[in-house]
Amino acid sequence: MIKNQLKTLSTMQKYDDKIGRFRVLQNELPKQLAKIMESVDAATSDLLAVESERAELNKAQRAIDADIQQANSQIDKYARQLSEIKTNKEYKALNSEIAYLSEKVSELESQQLVLMDQENEIKERIQAAKDNLAKAEDEKRGQEGALRAQIDKLESQIEENRAERNKLAVTLPTNIIKHYGNMIKNMGNLAVSFTKDGSCGACGFMIRPQIRIELQLFSRIIYCENCGRIMIDPTLYDEPEEE
Ligand SMILES: [Zn+2]
Repeated sequence: MIKNQLKTLSTMQKYDDKIGRFRVLQNELPKQLAKIMESVDAATSDLLAVESERAELNKAQRAIDADIQQANSQIDKYARQLSEIKTNKEYKALNSEIAYLSEKVSELESQQLVLMDQENEIKERIQAAKDNLAKAEDEKRGQEGALRAQIDKLESQIEENRAERNKLAVTLPTNIIKHYGNMIKNMGNLAVSFTKDGSCGACGFMIRPQIRIELQLFSRIIYCENCGRIMIDPTLYDEPEEE
């Protein structure tokens, strides 16, 4: 009789263990999902940032191109005017203007080269950011559906196990069910403790010799004097099943 009650209690604990694992998943899986979504978001914004850097650079390149074009057409204009110059002084002045503009053009051209180098470097970073995004999206494609399905199922899996546990609970006396329920609720989801080396398997409290003997008789339900859990001697499962 007591043996059967103890076996029922340890089976109930197995259902609660499973419920506990589902609860851990209920906490963990949404975090995993969020991490996957976040890495796609982060990779997307990284790519956008490098692309806007490139847009800025291209803008600077276009400005330099325009400056070069303007200086060159000015140089052409001055060169045409040279033929119409009457005085040596005017000729010199125009020539030095042309020299100044030519100097400016070559300066701008070397800036162009620097920006070209920068653009090549940015292109590489864009490629790396694209690869990164593709990888994050692959991971999302591969895992999001399964994770969401798993998360959606957890609550009903918990319900199923709870229902099975409750079916067993109703076969026990009310005071034992109450004690079991309190332990599950307040003692880390663990109501049943298998004794180990003369101690409570849950809290490690040393069991008095008299109680150790009683535990092996299975004549009454024994609670740990320290943590209150229902103690079961593991020899309960040594014998073949009997009524
Ligand atoms: Zn204990």
